Amino acid sequence: MSVPIRIPAKTLGSMALRDFCPRCFWIRMHVQDKLPYQIFPGIFSSIDSYGKRLVEGWFDRHGSPPSWLSSLGDIKAYRPPPHFSKFNVFDQDSSVRLTGAPDGILVRGDNSHVIVDYKTAKYTETQDELFPMYEVQLNAYAYIGNTCGLRPVTGLALVYTEPVTDSSSCCDDANMTKDGFNLRFSISVLPVALKPEAIPRMMRNAREILDLNGPPNGLKGCENCARLRQLITIASR
Ligand code: SF4
Repeated sequence: MSVPIRIPAKTLGSMALRDFCPRCFWIRMHVQDKLPYQIFPGIFSSIDSYGKRLVEGWFDRHGSPPSWLSSLGDIKAYRPPPHFSKFNVFDQDSSVRLTGAPDGILVRGDNSHVIVDYKTAKYTETQDELFPMYEVQLNAYAYIGNTCGLRPVTGLALVYTEPVTDSSSCCDDANMTKDGFNLRFSISVLPVALKPEAIPRMMRNAREILDLNGPPNGLKGCENCARLRQLITIASR
């Protein structure tokens, strides 16, 4: 049996991206997903977490969801999302432990669950190029949820929070305060199709890549790979 490995839901989702590179995936996972020079501004996760706390606070005070979640149907409550140490599933076939940390879990009138993920991003009618990754990420949550206390999961959705920065907002005196300014966010809820049955196949695909004795070929013409070779040459002088 292969050595067990932990794969977070979003990392599994990266395999669905149009420019997925098996070489990058192999390298990433063989250094425990800790690549150098990775700087990600924390402000986005702060805004995502603020949105989540706003929804929970609204539920606590009013006993119902905010109106902008109405497209999700009959929602009667929320459940605090579990930590990834409690929200994971081990797949015997691939020897992969799939982990997740959903942003929000909503409970429908029939006691089934809707899992939501908050994304601070511009929402456009044209497809977000990261959507295939989010789609797998949410379905991985559904797959885990169905074995970790959320059965049945009957809905998935992305909740896009987009800052309103148009000229009229900039000219609105109400947005200027004594000690700073207000920035409004608009919400777009995008339902995601439920297909958790695809997740075990993706775990097996990940395992096939990770079991290779060395990194597979990368994407043709990738400039970053050329830079990486340059770095290695310089570092080995
Ligand atoms: S080809 Fe590009 S994406 Fe693939 S391993 Fe190299 S740097 Fe990463």
